[in-house]
Amino acid sequence: MELEPKKGMVIVYTGDGKGKTTAALGMCVRAVGHNLKICILQFVKGTWKYGELEGLKKLGPNVELHVVGKGCVGILGDKLPLEEHRKEAEAALELATEKINSEKYNIVILDEINVAVKLELIPVERVLELIESRPQEVTLVLTGRAADPQIVKVADLVTEMLDIKHPYQLGVLAMKGIDY
Ligand code: ATP
Ligand code: MG
Repeated sequence: MELEPKKGMVIVYTGDGKGKTTAALGMCVRAVGHNLKICILQFVKGTWKYGELEGLKKLGPNVELHVVGKGCVGILGDKLPLEEHRKEAEAALELATEKINSEKYNIVILDEINVAVKLELIPVERVLELIESRPQEVTLVLTGRAADPQIVKVADLVTEMLDIKHPYQLGVLAMKGIDY
């Protein structure tokens, strides 16, 4: 089977278990091996972790990364009003639209976009529109827990990460190379 089908896929990684963003990054590694072009946009969380930022640089010019969101919404000392987050999410969506339609990328990863929809920073209709109106050969990857059922419905591939066990529950904090 060809890695690059004529019609791009709509892929959703969702669920409470760990591995959604890592799955998208893993795809990125494979795709670069085929010299495909990838654009990653971060919704909701403003800061990418050191490991992925530096790691992606090592993949070279085939991977472009944009961090748009302004920090974790509603948690970890978030002091920004929701309206600020909404503006950021809107900016991320506009940039996503531009990138998807630029025809410069084979794959566009919309990291944590499901969370942006869940928190009502972006209306689900906008995301459905983005999926529907994209150039058909572009593959989209949408990550984040609690994916909207309407997005799940239109997607071609949906994986739900199931949280069976996570060391966080034993008080183990984020680990280098595993979580950041
Ligand atoms: P990762 O980036 O490791 O693939 P993820 O994208 O599936 O995780 P997010 O919801 O984006 O998960 O959460 C990001 C951070 O929260 C990661 O550092 C991850 O280790 C941690 N995390 C993910 N799932 C869980 C969980 N079930 N319990 C505790 N921490 C979690
Ligand atoms: Mg994630």
